[in-house]
Amino acid sequence: MRVYTADITPEMEGQKVTLYGWVHEVRDLGGLVFLLLRDREGIAQITLPKKFVSKEIFKLAKKIKRESVIKVVGEVKVEEKAPGGFEIIPESIEVLNESDAPLPLEVTEKVPAELDTRLDHRFMDLRRPRVQAIFRIRHQIMQSVREFLCEEGFIEVHTPKIVSTATEGGTELFPISYFEKEAFLNQSPQLYKQVLMGAGFEKVFEIGPIFRAEEHNTTRHLNEAISIDIEMSFTDHNGVMDVLERLVHRVYEDVAENCERYLGWLELSLEVPELPFERITYDEAIEIAAKKGEEIPWGEDLNTTALKHVGDEIGGLYFITDWPTESKPFYAMPYEDKPEISKSFDLMHEWLELASGAQRIHLYDMLVESIRAKGMEPESFRFYLEAFRYGMPPHAGWGLGAERLLMSMLGLKNVREAVLFPRDRHRLVP
Ligand code: ATP
Ligand code: MN
Repeated sequence: MRVYTADITPEMEGQKVTLYGWVHEVRDLGGLVFLLLRDREGIAQITLPKKFVSKEIFKLAKKIKRESVIKVVGEVKVEEKAPGGFEIIPESIEVLNESDAPLPLEVTEKVPAELDTRLDHRFMDLRRPRVQAIFRIRHQIMQSVREFLCEEGFIEVHTPKIVSTATEGGTELFPISYFEKEAFLNQSPQLYKQVLMGAGFEKVFEIGPIFRAEEHNTTRHLNEAISIDIEMSFTDHNGVMDVLERLVHRVYEDVAENCERYLGWLELSLEVPELPFERITYDEAIEIAAKKGEEIPWGEDLNTTALKHVGDEIGGLYFITDWPTESKPFYAMPYEDKPEISKSFDLMHEWLELASGAQRIHLYDMLVESIRAKGMEPESFRFYLEAFRYGMPPHAGWGLGAERLLMSMLGLKNVREAVLFPRDRHRLVP
């Protein structure tokens, strides 16, 4: 019977099991060899006392190379000192594929490596339990997001990633050649998900890549990221903030409940945040920053220093609402009675932005005016604008960065840790 290391319990004492995995470590004590087998769920100790195992496998264990792929058939024995509280006395060990030596990277935690070296040999880095844990938790997050949004009546959609117009104009676009035309990699599904409100879907979500030609190298920016996006009709910014905070809460709950083992590998215990999340306005945020010595001229985006001050003061997960209209994209809806402020919000974790959202402008003339006011040409938004002329409902939505959410939840120092194969200013391989 094939089992994972984590499936083995003390009650299985005496039972014969088959394990598949990698040789994590070999400890050769002369007449006794310990071989640690690692599979995706953990580590098992294979114990070979010279007297009790066949000559053949004893010899094999002594010369086996680390990170080779093996199959072990053996008997479970309770052993308190071994990982998981059991050991396996092998009856056979089969090498399915021998590893080369030396290894490009250490899989055990004994020798720390620079992030760059780790990313260069990512397949090997990913074998490390701590790194595996990050992606097992990422899997849970994505599953919870999808489940939650489906339960709430959202329909999953996929919009094009090869596009002809910039979502927000500007410089953060990767141009590509598309036959005889110039095209771009989409920086956000924004325009399409709004058009789908005009199409009558009412509630849509998309989990997909966004591409941003960010020139600067920071610990929170990638050039390719996964965005969780929703758009919802007949609601406003408050309606979609409500969905967002309940979603994040649900994700935390599910991870805390289902990912105990992987949180353990990371030596983390997760605290589920309480609902509702705190809300402060942009004005309150710049006041906090100013009190701590960082003056932000009204209307400008909050820089990292300002956000660090605000994060220190508020802490945890919170919203910054009511941003100046000029600081937000053209599609953000201004308040009727104070048009210099928009019905917009960012979801923050400490100093890190996790999501941005807003009620959108659904009125054609106002939207055209807003595009012009940002110095862009309504002509280049023709397919988008058409959807606003024949019955566009009021609507709102947000985009939540999957890597930022994972990074903040696990306290990762660099967003690259949250991606299997990150793309940044200097990295296109692997
Ligand atoms: P920032 O100000 O942090 O650069 P942004 O305001 O440009 O982000 P938005 O356009 O609001 O980003 O995108 C929505 C969300 O998508 C962000 O809140 C973030 O979680 C995620 N995101 C955007 N750009 C990136 C990126 N380059 N790398 C990783 N995640 C990103
Ligand atoms: Mn934003």
